[in-house]
Amino acid sequence: MTAATPRFATLAVHAGSAPDASTGARVTPIYQTASFVFNDADHAASLFGLEAFGNIYTRITNPTQSVLESRVAALEGGTAALAVASGHAAQFLALHTLMEPGDEFVAGRQLYGGSINQFNHSFKKFDWHVVWADSTDPESFARAITLKTRAIFCESICNPGGIIADLPAIAAIAKAHGIPFIVDNTMASPYLCRPKEFGADIVVESLTKFMGGHGNSIGGVIVDCGTYDWLGAKHRYKTLVEPNASYNGMRLAETFGNFAFAIACRVMGLRDLGPAISPMNAFLILTGIETLPLRMAKHCENALAVAQYLEKHPGVSWVNYAGLPGNKSYALQQKLCPLGAGAVFTFGLKGGYEAGKRLCSELRLFSLLANIGDTRSLVIHPASTTHRQLTDAQRTAAGAGDEVIRLSVGIEDKADIIADLEQALAKVG
Ligand SMILES: *Cc1c(COP(=O)(O)O)cnc(C)c1O
Repeated sequence: MTAATPRFATLAVHAGSAPDASTGARVTPIYQTASFVFNDADHAASLFGLEAFGNIYTRITNPTQSVLESRVAALEGGTAALAVASGHAAQFLALHTLMEPGDEFVAGRQLYGGSINQFNHSFKKFDWHVVWADSTDPESFARAITLKTRAIFCESICNPGGIIADLPAIAAIAKAHGIPFIVDNTMASPYLCRPKEFGADIVVESLTKFMGGHGNSIGGVIVDCGTYDWLGAKHRYKTLVEPNASYNGMRLAETFGNFAFAIACRVMGLRDLGPAISPMNAFLILTGIETLPLRMAKHCENALAVAQYLEKHPGVSWVNYAGLPGNKSYALQQKLCPLGAGAVFTFGLKGGYEAGKRLCSELRLFSLLANIGDTRSLVIHPASTTHRQLTDAQRTAAGAGDEVIRLSVGIEDKADIIADLEQALAKVG
C-alpha cells in the first residue's frame, strides 16, 4: 500500500495482510496449526510473560486470525481487535472484561433475539444484570444508570426492527456518566456505519453476517476504539487496572494503554474461557471482507427497491425500512449511515401470524432460515422462530410481533427478488 491514508475499499482488500514472507503466497494462508515452535526457552518465557508479542497456541493467537483482526480494526477505525468464535462470544468476552458479580449494564431493548436471551438468562448465572432501555429514546439510558452500571450496550441498526439508534446522543450520556459505550455493529457493518465516529468505545460484531457475507462461517469480533481512559475512570475495572496475578502483577491498562481492552479480552477472556475462531473460518471471513463494499452497496440498493415495492402492496400493512423517507429512523439513517440503511428490515402482513408462516413457505428464491447477511435473500417469521422464547410483550417491544416478517435482502437481481415476493404474496391473499 502506498497511499498515506488508504480509503475504505482499499483497506477492505489489503489491511493487515502482506504476501507470506516465507512462501510468497499472495493470499493470507490458513495457518491450520494448534501451536507454534518457540525460538528458544527465553523466547518462550517472554511470550508467556506478555513481554513480547507472538504466537503460542491457536486458542490465544493465530496468524490467520491476526490478519482478520488487523483488517477489522482498520475498517472500524479502532486501535486493535480480537476475533472470536461467534458474535455471541464477542459480546460475552467484552462484558466479561468489564463486569464483576453484582454489576449492571444498560442495553437498548431493540436487540437481536439471541442477545436478549444471553443477557436475560445466561448472564444472570454470573450475577451480571441487564437493565433495559429504549434505543429510540436516549434519555431512557440515562434513567437506567445506577452506581452499579459498568457498560452501555446497543445495536447501531437494530435487528430485526431496522430502527437506527441515536449513537451520538447515547454516547454523550455514557460519557457524562463515565461509562464505556459498546455498540453491536453487525447489521450495518463498518461500510455503512463506524460507531467510533459517533462516540462508541467498543464495537462488537457478528462476522457471521455481512462481514463474512456468504453464510458459510460463524465468527465474531471485539474492536477496541482506544477511547476509554481505564486508569482515569471513576469505577475500578478490575481486569484492566488491578495487578494481574496470572501475569506477574502486570496492570494491563498501564502496560498496553489505548489497546488494553483488546489485550484484556484476549489474555483474560479468550485465554480462560476459550471461544477461539478456527483458522479456516478466519480465512473465509477475511475473503468475504474483501468484497464488503461491493456487496453492501448492492444489498442496500436491492433492499430499498424491495421496501418500496412492499410499501405499495395491498396485503402489507406497514414496512419498517429506515431508507424510506417516511420512516421514523430516516433522519438518523441520513446522518449515521448515509450510504444506505442495510439489507435487513421488517414488514407487517395484514393476515397476522398464520399469513406470516404461509408467506415463508410459499417463497421460492428466498431461503427460510435463521440468519442474515448472506449473498442470498433470506426470510423468517420471528414470532414463530427466533423470538418464540420471548413473552408477547418482549416480542412486541423487540419489533417481532405476530404479523412481522423479517427479510435479509440478498445481492441477486432485484427483479427476481420482487417477483418471488409477488407470487408468494398472491398466494397468501
Ligand atoms: C447474529 C447476531 C449476533 C450473534 O452473532 P453469532 O455470530 O450468531 O453468535 C449478535 N448481534 C446481532 C445483531 C446479530 O445479528
